[in-house]
Amino acid sequence: MSKTKIKMKKKKRIALIAHDNRKMDLLEWARFNRDLLSRHELFATGTTGHIIAGELNLHIHKFKSGPLGGDQQVGAKIAEGGIDFLIFFWDPLAPMPHDPDVKALLRIAVVYNIPIANNRSSADFIISSPLMESEYAIELIDYQDRVMKIEGKKLIEE
Ligand code: PGA
Repeated sequence: MSKTKIKMKKKKRIALIAHDNRKMDLLEWARFNRDLLSRHELFATGTTGHIIAGELNLHIHKFKSGPLGGDQQVGAKIAEGGIDFLIFFWDPLAPMPHDPDVKALLRIAVVYNIPIANNRSSADFIISSPLMESEYAIELIDYQDRVMKIEGKKLIEE
């Protein structure tokens, strides 16, 4: 399977999302890291972006609210190569009306091999990485190469 590399620049494009019960955790994390975050380009789903931008006086590109399609918009932006990493504090204890969108977003983040943090300790490790201050080559699997064929009754990878 062939791989391609795409360049992540020094200035990162960061997407921030938190479910309602996790919004205060994300806000606290963003407050602690405000100076560093202000040197990068920030994106967020509607309500998360509204809270963080308002509380911390940061410029954030806001998508629609998550349940209204915001998670899908973030996913589309990742697929376009427009997001470098995702900080997504999802709620592990509450079912969401937009659960399929959440799953789709996490899936697309894996397809495009971007770093994802789903809790504070992961977010701390990502943001304190030396790679935050440098360029980085993201390795992408070329899934178009993944030709499938039918042998007998089984679909197998060529
Ligand atoms: P919100 O969306 O930031 O608009 O609340 C987050 C989500 O529920 O995915």
